[in-house]
Parts: sequence; structure tokens; C-alpha cells
Amino acid sequence: MKRFGAWLGGVALLALAACGESNAPLPAITAADVDGAAIIAADRRPDIWISHGRTYSEQRYSPLKLVNDTNVKDLGLAWTSELDTNRGMESTPIVIDGVMYVTSAWSVVYAYNAKTGERLWKFDPEVDKSRGVSACCDVVNRGVAIWQGNVFVGTIDGRLIALDTKTGAKKWDVVTVDQSKPYTITGAPRVIKGNVIIGNGGAEFGVRGYITAYSAADGKQVWRFFTTPNPTKTADGAASDKVFAEKANETWGDTGEWTESGGGGTAWDGMAYDPDLDIMYVGIGNGSPWNQRLRDPAAKDNLFLSSILAIKPETGEYVWHYQTTPGETWDYTATQPLMLAELKIDGKDRKVVMQAPKNGFFYVIDRKTGELISADKYQDNVNWATHVDLKTGRPVEAANARYESPQSALQIPGPLGSHNWHPMAFSPDTGLVYIPAHTLPTIYANMENFRYRPGAWNTGTDFAAAALPTAMAERIAAGAASKGQLVAWDPIAKKPRWVVDYPNAWNGGVLATGGNLVFQGALDGRFRAYDAAKGGEPLWQFDTQYPALSGPISYEIDGEQYIAVTAGWGTALPLAGGTGNRDGAARMGASVMGRVLVYKIGGAAKLEPNYPFVPDPVPTAEDFGSAAVVEHGKELYFNNCMVCHGDSVQSGGIVTDLRWSGVPATKDGFAEVVIDGKYASSGMASFKQKLAPEDVEAIRAYIVNRSNEDAAAIKAAAQPPK
Ligand code: CA
Repeated sequence: MKRFGAWLGGVALLALAACGESNAPLPAITAADVDGAAIIAADRRPDIWISHGRTYSEQRYSPLKLVNDTNVKDLGLAWTSELDTNRGMESTPIVIDGVMYVTSAWSVVYAYNAKTGERLWKFDPEVDKSRGVSACCDVVNRGVAIWQGNVFVGTIDGRLIALDTKTGAKKWDVVTVDQSKPYTITGAPRVIKGNVIIGNGGAEFGVRGYITAYSAADGKQVWRFFTTPNPTKTADGAASDKVFAEKANETWGDTGEWTESGGGGTAWDGMAYDPDLDIMYVGIGNGSPWNQRLRDPAAKDNLFLSSILAIKPETGEYVWHYQTTPGETWDYTATQPLMLAELKIDGKDRKVVMQAPKNGFFYVIDRKTGELISADKYQDNVNWATHVDLKTGRPVEAANARYESPQSALQIPGPLGSHNWHPMAFSPDTGLVYIPAHTLPTIYANMENFRYRPGAWNTGTDFAAAALPTAMAERIAAGAASKGQLVAWDPIAKKPRWVVDYPNAWNGGVLATGGNLVFQGALDGRFRAYDAAKGGEPLWQFDTQYPALSGPISYEIDGEQYIAVTAGWGTALPLAGGTGNRDGAARMGASVMGRVLVYKIGGAAKLEPNYPFVPDPVPTAEDFGSAAVVEHGKELYFNNCMVCHGDSVQSGGIVTDLRWSGVPATKDGFAEVVIDGKYASSGMASFKQKLAPEDVEAIRAYIVNRSNEDAAAIKAAAQPPK
């Protein structure tokens, strides 16, 4: 018996040793030590969060479980710090060696002591604020990357900058775009094999998308991969030349607005990397203009719009692609977060890449070959396509989906998607993907007489027609007003295991943890934790005052686990949707500064109230202009001003609410701002090149008309009932 016991003990020790080889914690490292080997070994240092999605797989799962489903009720604020910008927050922090690196709007970078919240340094790239009008969806930034003592940030004016992790001092600064064009960078860089990989945005205005690799050491360009052809379909001297000559050029017609606009296909967010296969994955955006009938009358597939692209990180060499939305015409980007996982499907172990792009289907794809394994609606109200044909890999579109003149039926999703940039998470414990999904339907309307205007809003779809009262009535009658869901999606069973419903759309990114928790902020200004296995009522919630929509993270210092998230007021929906989309978020408004919020068990810090000033509804001036002029002004407003100043001039409070501003009161005062660019330095650029003086005056007539209309309505509502 004794010998048997010794033998058994030996087996146990061997098993422990084998286990220890792959899972034992590794010694602590500093920011100078972060490289590919360190990121690949991230699961053996669960106390830090060293790349955007924590690991190259980008699962946004923290194995930490000191905070768990039994003690999360005692979670409290450990520290908070106010950031110095008042626009939207989308940043995922990075934490290593006790330091947190986080970005805020306008691409500003901060370093904090991650335990105490002491600010160590701040770097402001001093972006020309007039470039803010080239940002479709607020002047946001999703975070930095760290590599060998440098921190990398992409800026809203298209630069990639390397800073010293210790001091924030600039080491190098390269311009990655033609700054005369409306390019922006909002996404976080990733570093793979010494290359800093960065894409860009701008497809709503008209740019040609691409991804570029720069040497982390000195900022020298290593390769570039274009995602659309150039107008002559000739070689660019780029890594993408071969695949365009072989298969992508032929998916574009020879004429159409794309030859001037650049075609779009910007890569502004999702990336992941498999070090074993040595393949990186990049999500590619929508067409420019959106409306394919105008973009490419030949109505071809238009590679690589709305595709997941697999390429080699050292050379940019093409490996495979999967196009989620061929002939994209609805702003259905596939830039959404990408994640890698190992799943047992039909008895076989599959290495997969997964995505919930805007178009409403959840894709599971073999990440070595690009073979489509499954594609299923993660929001059951999606109506632009009935299903995806797994044999052809193509969606089967609804008959009326490609909006014929003048407008199509109510469509789900609209341009903000069934899921947008808000990061999803995967828990290997539950096998579930947690998707921050929503319903934001729209009515797409073909824009008659569209012509591409350089630098202007160029979608070729008429936002004014989509906002017609009949369209709104149809939206409401269909019960398809905006709403949100946290979907715990089973990627093997291809259906939700549980769902949390929210009355409003556009809720926050998700973190899954080893403590059987998922954390999510919501547009209603609450940050919540749910049981990862069962969902249901929140186990914990905290009043964040403004929405914490960014990707939360977790880290551990001195035996305490922290949960961190950034919060603020802004991003695409609140900016464009105005008060009409502020369901449950009525407290938000102007002058809300962004914040970092950090929690731990027993945290007792207080969040100082910072409720914003909301202007009184005093009309700006007396109505003027004929009905025809006001109507013309409305059309111009929706297609030039709405994305920042809000639907029907109802500002979400992020930028000036024009209904209560003195600026539209006089012709000269309005022209000073809109034509002469008086406030360009704070983000309101001149529209001199885009709008004629009489058009500016028509817009003013519409704004003044809306001001009086709403002031009267608010006054009437304030009367006590008889
Ligand atoms: Ca877009």
C-alpha cells in the first residue's frame, strides 16, 4: 500500500509539474519588458492588463476572482480622477507595473498610479480642434498600446505617436494619413512582432481605407494594406497589390462615386492575433458613400468592405477574408471587436475567430482557413436579411432592403448597427460571449441628385427623409423604438443563454471575470455586475452619473483586485441622437468632464456630483423665411449638422444646443461661426467650402423655427393641468 501511495503521489507531483509549466504565475515585469512573449504569456500574469483586449485573443476575460459573485455587493469606489475633456469616453485602460495608461477625447493620454489614482503624467497631442467635424462619431479614443517602454496612441488628426512610459515624453510622431482629407484615428493600436498596427476612420465623409504597420522602435513604415482599390485599379506599391490584382479589383465597377470618394473600407477598431498561426485579423468598415447605387452602379461585392481580413503581421501579406455584407449599402461595418477562442463544435476542436458586426449576425469562422462555421442573428428583430446561406457564405437579403427611391421600409439594424464599438467579452468558464447589443432601426432613403463633395458628409442617403414624421410614426408603431440588450450568446448552440433588457440602446462594453461576473455600464448612468452563468438581476450597481460605455478592465495590486472603467457623455448616439435618444439619461448635458472610475472591495471614495448646466428654453429669435426656405434648411441641417448637433436640433448636450444659443439669432452672428469659422479652435470648423451663404441662412431659418416650436411646447407642458 505504501509503495502504491508513493507511486500515486509521484503521479500527482508530475501532474502538478506539467500543470505548473503552463499555468504557474510568472515573475512581475515592467513596461520596458512588454513584448510579444509577455503578451502571449498574459494568462500567467492575470494581475496586469497589458494589451487592448488583455490578450492577443482579445477575449476581455480576466481570470481574477478575488472579486466574485459572493462579495461583489461590497464593491466600492477606490479612486476616481477627472479627465480634462468633456467629450465621449471609449477608452480601455492598460495596467502594468502599478501604472494605468488611459486616453480621453481628443487623443489625450494620462498615466496614473493604479492603486492610489495619483496622476503621474499627461500628454496632449494638441490636435487642431477644427478637425472635429471630420469625426463622424465624436472625437473619441479607444486606448493605447504598450511595447518595450513605449506607449503608442493614434490621434484624431491621423498621427501615431510614441511616448516614454515613465515620463510621457514624446519619442516619435508620424503622420499616417493625408491630412487634407477627412481621415481620423479613434482606435487603439496593437503591437505584433515589433510592428505597431493602426487603421483609420472617415468613410462617412469620403476616404480610402488602409491599415499600416510602423516599426515600434523608430516609427518607420513597414507595410501598408489598402482595403479598397485606387481609381485606376493599379498597383500602389503596397502589401495589398497582389490580392487586388488577383481578386479584389474585379469586385468593383469602373465608374461611380467611389472613384472620387476613395470607397471607404476604413479599419477603425477590431483586431486580434493568433501567435501559433502567426495571423492577425482586422475588421473592415462600410462603403463610401454608403449608398451602393451611387458608389458603384455595377453593384458588385466591393472587397474588402465589411470584411474580416486575415493577414501576416510582419509583411501585410493576405491570407484570407470573409465578407459579412457583400455590396454594403447601409453602413454595416465589420470593424466591431474580433475575438479568438477554442470551441468544440460537432465534436471537433475548432480554433475560431468571432464577431458580432453591425449587420446583426454573429459569425463563427475557422481562423486558419476562413471557413464560415455559423452565422446567426444575435438580435431576432434583424430584418435586412432572412439568413446567411452557409454554402455560399452570403446573406439572403430581404426583397426591399436595398432602398429604392425615395425610401425603403423600416429596417433593422440602422447605421448604428445591432452592435457597435462597445467591446464584447468571452468567458471560458461559461462558454458564453457577452454582446452589448441594441435595436436602433432606421428608414434608409436614396438621396436624389447626390454628388460627392470633398470633405463633407457623403453618405448618399437622405437623413431628412428618414426623419419624416411618417417614418417616425412607422418606427413607433412597429415597437421598434430604441432599446438595448446584454446578450449572453452561446456560440456553439447558436442562441442566447440569457438576456438582460434595457429600455435604452447604446449600453457599455463588457468585462468577464473568473469570479463568475460580467461588468457592464449603461446609458442610464449605472455600472452593473451580473452573474456570468445565470444573468438576471444585477448583483451590484453603482451610480456613475454619466454613462460608462467603454470596455472595463480588471487588475490586482498588493492582494486587492480592482475593476476600472472610463465614463463621460458623448459618442455617436448621444451626439447625433440628441435628447430624443436620452431615455433614462436626462441628467446628462454640457460640460461633463470624462472620468476614470476604479473599484475594489470595501472602496469608500465618493463621487462628487457634477451635474451639468442645462440652459433655459429661451427661443433664439423670431421665425423668419418662407415654408420652402425652412424646409430646404431642414434638409441641409440633417445632412450637414445633425451628426453633431442632434436630430431635429435637439442636442444631447455634448455640443451647443442650437435651439437655446444666441448664435443663430442674427444672420451675421451665424455666418461668423458657420462660414468664417469663429469657433474652429473649439471644434466648430468653417463650412465655407461646403455650404453657400443662402444655404447657411436657410439652415438658420430652420433652427430658429425649431427653437420657437420647442420653446412653445416646453412652456405648454409646464402649465399646470386644468
Ligand atoms: Ca461608418
